[in-house]
Amino acid sequence: MATEKHGEPSGECVVCMCDLDADTYCEFKIHADDAWSPSRFCSGCIDHMRRTQWKRFEDLIAKADCRAAVLRLCSSVPLTVHDHVGFECPTHGKECTQNGSVALLWDMASGAVTEPILVGAKQGAEREQFIANLKAFAELMEAEKKAELAGDLKPVA
Ligand SMILES: [Zn+2]
Ligand SMILES: [Zn+2]
Repeated sequence: MATEKHGEPSGECVVCMCDLDADTYCEFKIHADDAWSPSRFCSGCIDHMRRTQWKRFEDLIAKADCRAAVLRLCSSVPLTVHDHVGFECPTHGKECTQNGSVALLWDMASGAVTEPILVGAKQGAEREQFIANLKAFAELMEAEKKAELAGDLKPVA
């Protein structure tokens, strides 16, 4: 770890426009063995993402109105802080299967390296179960739609 190079903070946060300096500057890795890349978001905005992005994903599930929409969400269940534009994979770019999802975060103020797991995010076996349930939900949605079309379900009065 001691040999890993970090950059100097410059510019401002693309979200809140605060200066990126020794108090707010962060760097990220999409893959653990990447070199560090400068974050365009300040540490405060990243922390806000970490606390709100899981809830935002749950809102997307609640709004999904067909099997295809739910299945799309199944393939993008978030685990860590993510932004497809702000955290572009420096190695593979937009084609990267991990593009946008931060594996490791370095915070200049504390010097700490963390895995920025979202507050509320499902992990491990719980995550597998969550995805399985979501897939089952998508199929159920499809079955109900077909039944409705076939006239098997009585219209809700
Ligand atoms: Zn900010
Ligand atoms: Zn990549």
